[in-house]
Amino acid sequence: MFDNSVKAYEEACEVIPGGVDSPVRAFKSVGGTPPFIDRGEGAYLFDVDNNKYLDFVQSWGPLIFGHCDKDIEEAVIATAKKGLSFGAPTTLETELANEIVDMYDYIDKVRFVSSGTEAVMSAIRLARGVTGKNDILKFEGCYHGHSDSLLVQAGSGMATFGAPSSPGVPADLTKHTLLCEYNNIENLKKCFEDSNDISCIIIEPIAGNMGLVPASPEFLKVCRELCDANGALLIFDEVMTGFRASLTGASGILETKADIITFGKVIGAGMPVGAFASNKEIMGHLSPDGAVYQAGTLSGNPVAMSAGLVSLRKLKANPEIYAALNEKASRLVAGLKEVAEQNNIGLQVDTRGSMFGFFFADKMPTNFKEVTDFCDFERFGKFHHEMIKRGFYFACSQYEAGFICTVITDEDIDACINAASEVMKNL
Ligand SMILES: *Cc1c(COP(=O)(O)O)cnc(C)c1O
Repeated sequence: MFDNSVKAYEEACEVIPGGVDSPVRAFKSVGGTPPFIDRGEGAYLFDVDNNKYLDFVQSWGPLIFGHCDKDIEEAVIATAKKGLSFGAPTTLETELANEIVDMYDYIDKVRFVSSGTEAVMSAIRLARGVTGKNDILKFEGCYHGHSDSLLVQAGSGMATFGAPSSPGVPADLTKHTLLCEYNNIENLKKCFEDSNDISCIIIEPIAGNMGLVPASPEFLKVCRELCDANGALLIFDEVMTGFRASLTGASGILETKADIITFGKVIGAGMPVGAFASNKEIMGHLSPDGAVYQAGTLSGNPVAMSAGLVSLRKLKANPEIYAALNEKASRLVAGLKEVAEQNNIGLQVDTRGSMFGFFFADKMPTNFKEVTDFCDFERFGKFHHEMIKRGFYFACSQYEAGFICTVITDEDIDACINAASEVMKNL
């Protein structure tokens, strides 16, 4: 029943490395071959064998209204008919920037780019340009895209500075990246003792790239205090949580405020959009106003802007969406936990707005090492595989968060819990 996907995958592997354009899509961590997708429809995906799946991945986050939302579809088609790209300003960019500026009282300006990777890379350059400092501090398990200086792993021993986590990244390009344990205040303080050249802390305030692991309020408060005391900027990477965890993302539900926020995913509603935003003073350093260089041929692409614009306006017009999404997310993970417990399987669950996470573990992890140490990855792999067979499409790794879209119904969720109840019996 996966014959066409298997064939498509084999053909893709001949001409595309690993058959995919982003590694997580290859299902390496759960085994098997990935379904090749033919189309989406509301909360569902259909693959090239015409299998139907309830989609909890939603293109890894962007599709908060599900697939083929009529309003977004119409706006995209109408804009595309006027031309795909001009390399010149359009009023759509100002309109989308205004929607974002209106949401936050400490954000005055927004610069649009084409991906989350680009947004973070540019925000870091801006932070370095503004502070005149070189080092950046990131946390283990937080993902900020694939730019060189962010592809770091713990070096040998107790080293504060990271080593490249990928061949092709010279150690010279990661020697300015300090790596700290998430939610570890002592470790964080030590980083600031080890370097007086820290330009910024970059953090996912609610991490979604090691499963769902929120930072504690105290930890974020210390991040803020250390930045202020040391002339560094705090960057919240809200590429995943922006317009997801709440209308104003993680920033909207946390007390600590960042200096720069990065966006991606939902901001483009499925089109390639990223952005970074801050106050007038910081953004004033960016070219052409200031000296920090940043550019993009397709940045602020009109078709992508129109998708984001309709999507954000719909979210703003219906703020009750988030409570409804969270109710569904909670219904799902509470149901999964219950059927897991009936089978003596430890399952740790959490939600933030439309994001959810579950770990096959007996204790709730609070950082990357604990996710790795506590979780039963083999059990997750089996669960994933069996759920796919039953038409439920979860992210293919224990290190990924899940997403609820507005068109998923309680009946969909209950069907998923029923299927999970069958699957858990044999895990
Ligand atoms: C997805 C993601 C990125 C990278 O965005 P791309 O559009 O894949 O380049 C960066 N930061 C976070 C927190 C993300 O979830």
